[in-house]
Amino acid sequence: MPDQPLSSADSAKSATEAPLLRDAAEIQDWSDQSDILIVGFGMAGACAAIEALEAGASVTVVERTSGCTGSTSAASGHFYLGGGTPVQTACEFEDSPEAMAAYLEATSPTPNMKKITLYAEGSVAHFNWLEAQGIPFERSYYPTKNVVQPGRECLIWTGNEQVWPYRDLATPAPRGHKVAFDGEEGGGALALRILSERAEALGARVIANAAVGSLLHQDGQIVGVQARRFGETLNLRARNAVILAAGGFGQNPEMVRQHVPILEHAYVQGSPHDDGVGIRLGQAAGGATEHMQEAFITSPFYPPEDLLKGILVNRLGQRFVAEDSYHSRSSIHCTRQPGGTVYLIVDAAIFAYPQFASLTQQALVDGFETIEAMESGLQLPPGSLQTTLADYNRHAARAEDPEFHKHPKWLKPLDEAPWAAFDLSFGRAVYTGFTLGGLRVNENGQVLNADGNAIPALYAAGACASNLAQDSNGYASGTCLGEASFFGRRAGKHSASRTHAST
Ligand SMILES: Cc1cc2nc3c(=O)[nH]c(=O)nc-3n(C[C@H](O)[C@H](O)[C@H](O)COP(=O)(O)OP(=O)(O)OC[C@H]3O[C@@H](n4cnc5c(N)ncnc54)[C@H](O)[C@@H]3O)c2cc1C
Repeated sequence: MPDQPLSSADSAKSATEAPLLRDAAEIQDWSDQSDILIVGFGMAGACAAIEALEAGASVTVVERTSGCTGSTSAASGHFYLGGGTPVQTACEFEDSPEAMAAYLEATSPTPNMKKITLYAEGSVAHFNWLEAQGIPFERSYYPTKNVVQPGRECLIWTGNEQVWPYRDLATPAPRGHKVAFDGEEGGGALALRILSERAEALGARVIANAAVGSLLHQDGQIVGVQARRFGETLNLRARNAVILAAGGFGQNPEMVRQHVPILEHAYVQGSPHDDGVGIRLGQAAGGATEHMQEAFITSPFYPPEDLLKGILVNRLGQRFVAEDSYHSRSSIHCTRQPGGTVYLIVDAAIFAYPQFASLTQQALVDGFETIEAMESGLQLPPGSLQTTLADYNRHAARAEDPEFHKHPKWLKPLDEAPWAAFDLSFGRAVYTGFTLGGLRVNENGQVLNADGNAIPALYAAGACASNLAQDSNGYASGTCLGEASFFGRRAGKHSASRTHAST
């Protein structure tokens, strides 16, 4: 696709009123210059830096904090990888790039088959690359349905691969690969430390504690950035390209209200610097955005996994989703119920408190000796829950769920008194989340305008770009780190190979 020269009329302003796009002709002194300039040293920025350096480019990374503090460092450390990785093979799971691509296609509202195919076909090589950088992955499998494995085990089901209709559309395989790390948090931080040290060992120059506020353009292309560091202005020239890798926009209340208001009612996780500046810089240069209205959102009611044998009902006493869905899928469906009202109903045989109840505030409403008593206790329409449970139990006794096709493994009649209800209502229970939308980019990370043309010398990767993770319904844990690293690498490599005269 041909580049479209930038218009100097672009004059969008950042929150601090510094122009997001400035004419480089205004710049008297350049503080520094390099071939590639990367904004943000998280997963995407570190991977882009390594590839660009290995392609022979000089690289400067500008990082707003002292380092290793982005959302990557909050991540559990799942990478969504498949197609027959060494871990899948060691744990005796068969997978293929075709099955992985079919799954990603089935779970994407608007699948980009070029990106999906590249990712699925490149997944084994990408796993090997991550491991070669020094990131540890055990050859082990964690069989329990959980949000994050508590120990160092690697392979886990982190999506809806075994959930209907996806299990009929693509041969299922577990593809969540957790960095070997004891605990539920820390795998992302470990991976980032290893990758950022690797980038620096290869020669990346890191300017820390410097916040980029403007892109600089000249002769129709991006030629650098302007940053502020301890009250000083830095003008940093990029001979080849600028790569935006500055994270998402969950901490920008105005952008959240405008694009993804559901997050106003959730606890937004991640970097405090997810203020959307990467996206806004790209937009100021003419970049389009995609999937800005979508967020990962969750209030997981499992583990323990036996709770998947319960049912979720809304205020009409009706089920609405297969309860064995990945937690961000069941959660987004919960948020869409009338009044946000949702109860998890269990019987005595499977009763347990959701493991995350102290975080999610999923309160135990009460125990009830009869379904009729529960129905009135929850103020559900008379007869509604009785009908729902009678139907569910009748089918579950035959290991069937004709309405939502819950996997037979999680089907059992809920017929052992007493029964209990947990309140999962959106607005009463705590839902957490982060943004998924970002700049529209092609498979090489080039930022595209509304017509699909590349903005000259401007790339984006990670949470400020939109690649594979498109919505909460289809999300699989590990997709964000997976795409930030995979497409970050592609952006680094492609930008290193371009000259200012070409795309
Ligand atoms: C609690 C939690 C757990 C998660 N677990 C997983 C998981 O296990 N697997 C998975 O795939 N995804 C997970 N995610 C999502 C994933 O962590 C992010 O999508 C991913 O880390 C984004 O990487 P990034 O490089 O784009 O952004 P970041 O890691 O946030 O890096 C962006 C960097 O840019 C810097 N920056 C920002 N503004 C500027 C500026 N103006 N100038 C210079 N620098 C700037 C920031 O300081 C930051 O260091 C999780 C998210 C959260 C919140």
